[in-house]
Amino acid sequence: MVESGTDGDVTANSALVVAMDGPSGTGKSSVSRRLATRLSARYLDTGAMYRVATLRVLRSGVELTDPAAIAAAVKDLPLTIGTDPSHEVIELDGEDVSAEIRGDAVTKAVSAVSAVPDVRTQLVALQREIAATSGRIVVEGRDIGTVVLPDADAKIYLTASAQARAARRNQQNIAEGRGDDYEAVLADVQRRDNLDSTRAVSPLRPAEDAVQVDTSDLTMEQVIDELYRVVAQQITVGERR
Ligand code: C5P
Repeated sequence: MVESGTDGDVTANSALVVAMDGPSGTGKSSVSRRLATRLSARYLDTGAMYRVATLRVLRSGVELTDPAAIAAAVKDLPLTIGTDPSHEVIELDGEDVSAEIRGDAVTKAVSAVSAVPDVRTQLVALQREIAATSGRIVVEGRDIGTVVLPDADAKIYLTASAQARAARRNQQNIAEGRGDDYEAVLADVQRRDNLDSTRAVSPLRPAEDAVQVDTSDLTMEQVIDELYRVVAQQITVGERR
């Protein structure tokens, strides 16, 4: 393990913002949460915020092809999102929606909702506010290092092959009782990657100063060790600048 002295002082009680980006299925959420715990930091799941917005849109019954109606449905979104890495709190108007936002209906619609510029502007402002008031935080998403927090102390871009990502997500579905269908999961992973990386506003891409880590052949422990090392190194480089 890297400690202070040789590298950036990861263990110090100072402000630290880590941007974690990458496509779905890289293990990003579990990894970000565990990295946050190891860094004694807060954790923000921005994907969950877009999912709550999507649930609101679906419940409002507006067409997914109507950006103005989507924006109107998401305006004044009564969202509560926690930042404790060991305790998830995700509420829509006081209702716990943490399970519902991971369901099929939201997963299928979320790319359309997150592509609406007004939705992004609104949620990005909230993400910046949470990051600014949290001191130490790992912020996870698609555009954190590029758009939301371009001045983050450390930027990581997690990747993995589409096959490795689909296999992981399928295992997760099986474990959570949502069935076993690798081919369908792979198709969904590829469909969402494509939508997320080709959209006009904030397309999914690594920040120029992000360190890319491929998780295809690494265990969770190996990924966490590598990320901890990368964060320490990036802080050192930042301090020298
Ligand atoms: O991370 P998760 O799979 O929960 O994200 C769900 C969706 O939210 C993504 O497919 C993407 O469309 C959107 N998203 C985004 N920007 C972020 C985080 C998520 O557009 N920062």
